[in-house]
Amino acid sequence: MTVSSPRPGTSTPSAPSPTIDLDALRGEITGRVIGPNDDDYESARQVMFGGIDRHPAVVVRVATVDDIRRVIELARETGLELAIRSGGHSARGDSTTEGGIELDLHDMTAIDIDPRAKTAWAEAGNTALAVTQAVTERGLAIGFGDTGSVGIGGITLGGGVGYLGRKHGLTIDSLLAADIVTADGELRRADADTNPDLFWALRGGGGNFGVVTRFQYRLADLPGIVGGMLVLPATAETVERFIALSDEAPEELGTIANVMPCPPMPFVDEAWHGKLVIFGLLCWAGDAASGAKALQPFRDLAKVGGLDAPIADLVHPGAFTEMYPPEDPDYHPLAVSLTGFLDRVDRTTAETIMTRLESLDAPMRAVQLRVLGGAIARVPDDATAYAHRASKIMVNVAAFYEGEQDRPQKMAWVRELLGAILQSDRGAYVNFLGDEGEARIRAAYPGATYDRLAEIKRRYDPENLFRLNQNIAPA
Ligand SMILES: Cc1cc2nc3c(=O)[nH]c(=O)nc-3n(C[C@H](O)[C@H](O)[C@H](O)COP(=O)(O)OP(=O)(O)OC[C@H]3O[C@@H](n4cnc5c(N)ncnc54)[C@H](O)[C@@H]3O)c2cc1C
Repeated sequence: MTVSSPRPGTSTPSAPSPTIDLDALRGEITGRVIGPNDDDYESARQVMFGGIDRHPAVVVRVATVDDIRRVIELARETGLELAIRSGGHSARGDSTTEGGIELDLHDMTAIDIDPRAKTAWAEAGNTALAVTQAVTERGLAIGFGDTGSVGIGGITLGGGVGYLGRKHGLTIDSLLAADIVTADGELRRADADTNPDLFWALRGGGGNFGVVTRFQYRLADLPGIVGGMLVLPATAETVERFIALSDEAPEELGTIANVMPCPPMPFVDEAWHGKLVIFGLLCWAGDAASGAKALQPFRDLAKVGGLDAPIADLVHPGAFTEMYPPEDPDYHPLAVSLTGFLDRVDRTTAETIMTRLESLDAPMRAVQLRVLGGAIARVPDDATAYAHRASKIMVNVAAFYEGEQDRPQKMAWVRELLGAILQSDRGAYVNFLGDEGEARIRAAYPGATYDRLAEIKRRYDPENLFRLNQNIAPA
């Protein structure tokens, strides 16, 4: 499921900045310096979402901590905008810049696992899939999100909501330490004992505080899962029941319900293509027998929807890595989306979701629902910079658009749908925010959370060098 609200990109190429001598920089950097005249410049500046078309003066594929220091210094010397990139999935396109400096962690991918201690250090250029593959080989796991190509940099610093959340918490709840180069060029350790204020801020506060070079995670035992895709007919009743079942299920079960038109997948009867379905993604983090039992009520929802069996049932025992199916690297969708939290999905909410989805004739439109709770909710609100521990259900509303002229209409539809279903919880998850302004950043960091982040920002980045993000202004 793609969720994005990209800023419209600029399309006029800018000349290389006269203030950067690329040849001199090449002599100073161990990694790769990519300028507008290099063959791989076009691919290096490409980010995940379509519609973001920016031209950095230089992309520096850093290889070492010293490279990172040098790039930070260069940004200070030149005054150019600095973008930090891990997996390149930012909905705002914050990991690239028009005319500025892009610090790309792509090549920093070392992973060092301590199987006895059940911990791993992973450099910040890794993807969720790469880390998951490495630890799964040892029967261990760390929960990221629903997409393998997402960078561990962005997802970890924002929180990390995924299949293992109810059992093991957010990604940040398994974060033990991080190494970070701050605006003054210092490499610092942040953990429970060393710079604990910074460690607090890094767990949800995004890229505001410096360049994280590597993360240390606690790993959970996970020899296997029962998981995959379950496609069910979408009716108000099946949607309501799916969420109720997800909420009642043991914490081993993580689900995502995408209510959307059925994509034309080869294993789905053509009669269903384009019809509204629950495109369910389920992951049972436990043994196969108890998984089969826990998942049966979801399979039975087919009957509630008037069918004998699910439209497609690809749920099976396997490795956790299978929750990250192969992705097309050339997939760059044009999408708008908004995020929020719901207290409940009752019949009225489910009916509104169905009616609104039926009201738009776009090939890709979706309401994504994720039941939270469990281990996520057992962490106090003020223990990390992710302050939505009590939020029950995450909702993302998304639509694809076709060109800039179509974007406002799709955005209006998304906005109206979300507005029609929101209840008392007005928070937002920072990693699903688009370019939505200060009030929404405050919704992600309510009250005291924002104030504390601003104070920590003042200490570590008083000049707001790291500002291409959901920005916290230094206090
Ligand atoms: C298809 C898709 C699926 C998603 N699914 C989920 C999901 O299931 N759960 C979830 O929680 N989120 C999900 N997200 C949201 C995702 O977590 C955020 O978009 C995240 O910021 C992407 O991280 P990235 O490293 O790929 O992005 P980038 O664009 O590379 O980075 C985003 C921002 O993070 C900061 N940043 C990244 N790395 C560093 C670093 N090492 N040091 C300092 N700052 C850094 C920078 O500010 C940067 O602009 C999804 C996004 C997409 C596009």
